[in-house]
Amino acid sequence: MIVILIVIKIYIKRDQSKPLKKIMDIVKLIGDRLALEENGNKFKSICPFHINSEDFYTLLIDPDKQTYTCLKCGAHGGPEEFYKKYEGKKLI
Ligand SMILES: [Zn+2]
Repeated sequence: MIVILIVIKIYIKRDQSKPLKKIMDIVKLIGDRLALEENGNKFKSICPFHINSEDFYTLLIDPDKQTYTCLKCGAHGGPEEFYKKYEGKKLI
């Protein structure tokens, strides 16, 4: 019984410490909010973090690394950073 409890405890602990980027796909996260365009094995979009007068696709999304980078304003990070910056709130 004790062994089972320990196993369950370890399992829960592991599950909680799972990095966010493994749970949330950045392509889906950004794709739900912005129009994406496929660019080889990556995606690009119009950056929402700076004023785009020409609608240039400066936001590059890398599904393998689960990161986004804006070539113009330098905004970058993973799913959590995007969500916080875009929605202005913390993930639960
Ligand atoms: Zn930008």
